[in-house]
Amino acid sequence: MRLSDQPLLSAETIQGRVTELADQISRDYSGREIVLIAVLKGASIFCADLMRRLRVPATLDYIRAKSYRGLHSGGPIEFTMLPETNLTGRNVVVVEDILDTGKTTAAILDMLDADHPASLVLCVLLDKPSHRVTPVHAAYVGFAIEDRFVVGYGLDFDEAHRHLPAIYTLVE
Ligand code: 5GP
Ligand code: MG
Repeated sequence: MRLSDQPLLSAETIQGRVTELADQISRDYSGREIVLIAVLKGASIFCADLMRRLRVPATLDYIRAKSYRGLHSGGPIEFTMLPETNLTGRNVVVVEDILDTGKTTAAILDMLDADHPASLVLCVLLDKPSHRVTPVHAAYVGFAIEDRFVVGYGLDFDEAHRHLPAIYTLVE
């Protein structure tokens, strides 16, 4: 397995879209304060860029779910980190790297909803709609992509490639 020669999404393309998402969130939550919950580890880079461009007050917390094994989703979802923030009555924006089958994200949203936030929405950088098993609504989507395994900009393959500023597909 190696990286595609050309990125699927260049650093410039990603940065431009992150700015648009931050603008949209800032408009939608104007006059309110939000809690960003980044889903570790994949969303850490995206969330850091997104948060710096918000024009509404935001706090940051993390959740971590283990579910992904190698190239294929599946298996039970286990939470290995939960937010310290009390989300009751707060406006929560969950920041995810990629929406694939939807199983992990659905479980994360269920877990956070148990705290009774005032609002709870999802912001994903990438969406693979053709691979969805569990329906999940994302209020904010960076890019819809085909069902191919991607790495870079926080996304890994066996922990490698997260540092890349662009997003690549893995090829044989
Ligand atoms: P789901 O439960 O939606 O199937 O899986 C979501 C998780 O699977 C994502 O948070 C991510 O960790 C992982 N995932 C799904 N597709 C990809 C992909 O193309 N590349 C990488 N690196 N991870 C993926
Ligand atoms: Mg992930």
